[in-house]
Amino acid sequence: MRPNREISISKEHMAELADHAERAGALESCALLLGAKGAVRDILYADNVDPRPRQFFSIAPDQLLGAYRAAERRGLEVIGIFHSHPASGAAPSDTDMRFMRTNPVVWVIYSGQTREFRAHVTPEGGGGGTETVAVVVTAGASEAGA
Ligand SMILES: [Zn+2]
Repeated sequence: MRPNREISISKEHMAELADHAERAGALESCALLLGAKGAVRDILYADNVDPRPRQFFSIAPDQLLGAYRAAERRGLEVIGIFHSHPASGAAPSDTDMRFMRTNPVVWVIYSGQTREFRAHVTPEGGGGGTETVAVVVTAGASEAGA
C-alpha cells in the first residue's frame, strides 16, 4: 500500500546524510531536516550528546533551538529529524516511537547495517505505532534552483 505521506530529498542530501552516519562509526548520528511542503532543502547536522550514543541519540536543546531559528530566518520549517542506527535496521526503536509522539515530524532513519533510508511518522490523531512515509529521491541541486 502506498504511504499517505512522503518526504522528498535530493540525491546529494541523501549521500551527505549517509556519509554523516558512516563517519560516526558505531555511534548514532543525527541531523535536522529543513524544508517546506515535505521537501528537504537543507540539512543542519547536530551532535549526538546522548550519554549512550551507541544506542540512543539526543540533540542539545540549544542546537535544536538554533535549528528552529535558522529555519525561520530562511522561511523554512524543521520538517524532519534524521538519525542513524549503526548496527540495526531502519525501523524506529521503542525509544524512537516515544519521542516521535512528542516531535511529530517525519523521522528519517538510516541503517548502517542495510544502508537504507526509511521514513516514519506517528499516525494522525495519536494511537500507537508508526506509519511509513515514502522517501522520494529528487535529482537535486539543479532542480532546486529552478
Ligand atoms: Zn533510533
